[in-house]
This record gives sequence, C-alpha cells and structure tokens, in this order.
Amino acid sequence: MLADTKTPWQTYASAWLNGQANVVFLSTPLQGFLFLLALSLFSPWHAAGMALGALMALFICAFVLGQHPVEWRNGFNLFDGAVIGLLWAGLLSRDIESAILLAMAIAACYTMRFKLVRIAYSYGFPSLGVASLLTLWAAIYVTSYFGGDFWSLRMRTEPGTLSLSLAGLSLMGAMFIHDKRATAFALAGSGLSLALVFFIQDEALPMGSFLLKGLPLFLVLFAIPGTLLQGYARAYRLAFIAGVLTLCLELTWSHLNLIGAIPALMAPIYISIWLSFALVDSETRQIFLDDNFQDLISALRTSSQQGGVVVITGAGISTASGIPDYTRGDWLQAGVPLATYNFDGFVHNRYSRLMYWNSCFRFFNTATQALPNAAHQALTALQKAGFVRTVITQNVDGLHQKAGFDSTLELHGTIDHVHCLLCGASQAWPEPATWQHNDAFCACGGFLKPAVIAFGEDIPIATWQQAQQAVSTSSLLLVIGTQVAVTSALALIEQARQRQVPCFFIMPGYPACVLTAQDRILFYKAETLLPALSAYLGLPNTHT
Ligand SMILES: [Zn+2]
Repeated sequence: MLADTKTPWQTYASAWLNGQANVVFLSTPLQGFLFLLALSLFSPWHAAGMALGALMALFICAFVLGQHPVEWRNGFNLFDGAVIGLLWAGLLSRDIESAILLAMAIAACYTMRFKLVRIAYSYGFPSLGVASLLTLWAAIYVTSYFGGDFWSLRMRTEPGTLSLSLAGLSLMGAMFIHDKRATAFALAGSGLSLALVFFIQDEALPMGSFLLKGLPLFLVLFAIPGTLLQGYARAYRLAFIAGVLTLCLELTWSHLNLIGAIPALMAPIYISIWLSFALVDSETRQIFLDDNFQDLISALRTSSQQGGVVVITGAGISTASGIPDYTRGDWLQAGVPLATYNFDGFVHNRYSRLMYWNSCFRFFNTATQALPNAAHQALTALQKAGFVRTVITQNVDGLHQKAGFDSTLELHGTIDHVHCLLCGASQAWPEPATWQHNDAFCACGGFLKPAVIAFGEDIPIATWQQAQQAVSTSSLLLVIGTQVAVTSALALIEQARQRQVPCFFIMPGYPACVLTAQDRILFYKAETLLPALSAYLGLPNTHT
C-alpha cells in the first residue's frame, strides 16, 4: 500500500462517508455523499440518523477500540453504525435521550460485530449487516416492551415528487459511478417486478412506499454483481436467484404477519445473498471474499490488456501431482552428502556422476508418470483466454507443457532428456546400465548428463536472457508455489520490483525472501487458488 498523504481529518471524513456508502453496497466518499444527499431529500431525519450512526461507529473503531486506520478507513467497519442510525430516526425525532440510547445500541452492536464477521467469513459468507440487524431487532423488542413505538416517524413525512426525483437521481448517479452494468441490471429487474406487483394488486400506493417496496430487490440485484462478486462470471446468475429469493422472503414475511413480531428490515436481503452464495462451494467462496483475491482480479484484468502477466512457478505447483519438492531431497540417496550432487562433482568425480544419474532417474520415473493438476490446467486456461503470457518455472517436471501451456521457460532445465556437456546435443534417456557400469558418453566424447541444472551449474545464458526479457516487459508478476530460496528467481522478482511491477505471491506460507510493502500474499495452495481464479473469470473447463 502506498504511503497515506491525507491528513487525519480527511481520513476521518472519507471513512465516515465510505461507511454510509457501504449501506447501499457502494464504496467511495463521493458515492457516500450522493447517498446521504439522496436520503436527506427523502427524509432529513433518516439522513441525520445515518450520519450520526456512522460518526458514532467511527468514534468507537478509531478511539475506543483503537483500530488502525487500515481497518476502518474503507468504511466497512462503520456501516453497521450507519444502518442502526438510519433506522433509529423515528426515535431521534422525539427526544435527546434517544440519541444517548442510539450510542448505547451502537456500542452493543460493536461488542459482537467482529466476532460475527469472523464466524461468517470462516464459512465463506459475507457478514453483511448481521450485527446491526440483531441490534435493531433487540432495540425494537425492548422499545415495544416498554410500550414505545420504534417506528413513530413512519409515514409522518411523505416527500414531494420533486425531492423524490432528485433523491432518485442522486442515488442512481452514485450507483452508476460505481458500476453501470449492475445498476442497469438492478433497475430493470426491480422495475419489472414493481410494475408486475402494481398490475396484480391494482392499487395506487403513495410514490414513497411504492419505491420503498422495490428497494430490497433493487439492492440485492445490485450488491452481488456490483460489489460483492464484481466481475465474477456467474454474478448476474447468482443475483437473479437472490432476487427471486428476496421477493419470496418478503412475501412470506408479510403473509405470515411476522412484521408485527419481527420486522423484516434488511433480513430478506442478507438471507437471500447468503443462500445464493451457498451455491458456490465453500472453499471457493472463501477465496472470492479475500480482499487480496479481489485485488488480484483487478490487477489481472488491467495487466492482461497490456499483455504483460508473467508467472514464476516452483515445486509447490506440482506437489498435488505427486511430485516431491526436490529441495527436500526426497529423490536423493539417503546418507549421501548434498555436496556430492554439485556440478563440480559431476565433472570431476565418477561416484558423483553415478549418484547424480541414479537420483535423476528416480525423479524421471516419477515425473513421466505424473499428470498435470488443476493448477497447471487453470494456468493454461488463463493463457488461452489471454490473461497470462509466459510461465518461468523452476520445475523440471514438464507438467506445464503436458497441460498445454504454450510458452514455458525452464530455468532449471528439464528431466525429460539428457544432453552432452561438450557439444550440447540432446538425446532420450539411455538404459540405466549405460551409466551404472561405466560413464555415459556422447558420440563426440563428451559426458552425457541429465538436462537438469545441477547445484552450482549455470543457467544457460539464452534461457536466462529470455526470462529477463519476459520480466522486463511485464506489468504483473505472479509468484506461485516457490519459497524463492534460489537467487535466480529472486533476481527476476527484484527486476520486476525495480519497475514498480506489482507482485502477488500464491503459497500457503510466507516465502523465504524479504517482502516489500507493495507485495501481496494469497495464502492458498496453487491447486486451490488458480482454479478459483479461472472460475471467477468464467474460463472453460473449470468449475466452482
Ligand atoms: Zn556431444
């Protein structure tokens, strides 16, 4: 993340507006301002309530809980306060005590909010406003227990046509700025349903109530493709399902006369979003909700248009194909010192050559039987769709090529064949007897050696130059399944960093190299993350 040049007051103000934008699934200060304006034109009391609620939530997060600005400045942690304030408006219009009660309700909400967020995320669901919903239900129950009416403001102020139109324009403007397609989709879907309801019921509702009836459906249709799963290939399909569910839930709620007991509020919206999310498998939707994943998607979209996505892969991408990480030494001879396998040893020592040939042969047998896994296949799908240009791999197993990837640079050679150290000629693997009784020689008299780069052996200059060339024209670097323990991979990453190219690391743990502030890590296995990425982008031969 870049250094923040805003003053504290600017950070507070934009977080406060962001929190209000989040109430209707929007995300910037401008969008928050436009929504606040729309709400003021609709009902000044509700607008004041929302603004006050967001302010109280900001105070709690920044000063009481002492959270870092990173945690609240995008407004996500503030919107529960904004929602409570918005619906508290009826009470606010009556007396000053209700403002104190509002502060208490918001405080109560934030004692459970972060726990609820964690629980929801652990199941792969967005937490949405579940904390504010529970708080409001409790508040409504308590108010009615003491004989009060939480909704005392309702229907007291019916806005005029002019202010309604201006409010609509302001809200639609904010939504169009955020996502034009999702707004058009939500407008069309909710407009059609409202027209249908109007046609069936054949009764003239006041304009304000008419619009309010359509709001939950409109928000659901907008939220999924516009914000929660923006850019996901199946987002509109899920939004459609969630929209139908919202309508059903609202009808059920009013039909069973639940409104008297527990008002629906945002519940139909949240429940239908959760139910539609349940159609995506749980591991995949957890990845979808990861902020770093969303950033990776947008970086990938931007960079692929410039044709510059370069991928560096390591052993981690092949473990799911049953190939052990060779830095762990699984294929080496037990009890033989690692130094025996050095290139220097191979050139000067018969015993080293024998050990080297034997261990490479074990690896060759494993690799030739191995099949590409979901990670290799997803990378190939990404390349075919134009998202990825080149793979630079430290692996020698040839699985990228087996998966049909078109442009693979093998930094550490290949286990596929052997070559001559003198003339460079390649040939197929000979019979084990060839190297077990005597040294294996080329026709020219040079030593034959498996075409894998040994410890201490230089990477062929042509391969190295091609790798540097690929990185020098890249605009995004994905580092997948490698600890970056070898200097060649680190040099390529450094080369990208010097050009301010963003680097995303995809691996279950931290890499061995030093990370910079611009680096992002997605803590997933390659065979989990890459298929999810390919599914998100709607590429063929992948599933969710
Ligand atoms: Zn030769």
